[in-house]
Amino acid sequence: MVLWNKAALLKQLWAFYFKQDKLWVRWVHAYYINRGAIDTVTINSNTSWLLRKILDSRELLRDICGWEEVSNTQKFSIKKAYNHLQEGFDRVSWRRLICNNQATPKSKFILWMALLNRLATTDRISKWKRDCNTLCKLCGVQEESVQHLFFECEYSKSIWNAVLQYIELSPVNTAVGELRRVVQKARSKRSKDKLFVMLYTESLYAIWLQRNSKHSKDSILSPHAVIKEVIFKVACNCNENDRCRLLLV
Ligand SMILES: [Zn+2]
Repeated sequence: MVLWNKAALLKQLWAFYFKQDKLWVRWVHAYYINRGAIDTVTINSNTSWLLRKILDSRELLRDICGWEEVSNTQKFSIKKAYNHLQEGFDRVSWRRLICNNQATPKSKFILWMALLNRLATTDRISKWKRDCNTLCKLCGVQEESVQHLFFECEYSKSIWNAVLQYIELSPVNTAVGELRRVVQKARSKRSKDKLFVMLYTESLYAIWLQRNSKHSKDSILSPHAVIKEVIFKVACNCNENDRCRLLLV
């Protein structure tokens, strides 16, 4: 979002450079730039906050190697500028899993945290809190990690396997394998694949909520109740055709 905002500011700067025929651009030229060049206009105490921000983005011009790549004389592309500004970042293989996903925002956030391994699972907490019990909050048998919690724990496994059965797929049985499959399906436009991505995301979120409930209130829903909740949520959030498909399977 920060980069997108910078790209949008560049669009305003571009409007100054190319004297776009707009009233506010003419006004800025008449009162601030005053027949000077945009490159040499100095920012002083009279410059408004907004104009200062736009003029500050002159430095970004270097990063995107001038206007050529992002605009023509008629049009500026925020999208192209954003892509240029982003070039220094690595693209993660699962980016479509977050973007092409109709699941609820909260569940997508938890999925994103899980993918970055930033959830407060006990294997991570024990790194800064010595006396922390590292056993899984759900089964109390094995060490809790993202991989164990969502795909290896018996409780989670029973939920995920039932969800897979519901859409007539068989389990892959490893967290990495499931991730690879869901990333691949996130690229697809097929209705069944979209449902799979949503079910994956909502299941992860539901398991995370149950894990937290067990930890803080010592209460947990049965896998059957969790599955019903997951399917209900997906049915509420998908479009009508997908919903029919979900309820038919
Ligand atoms: Zn467990």
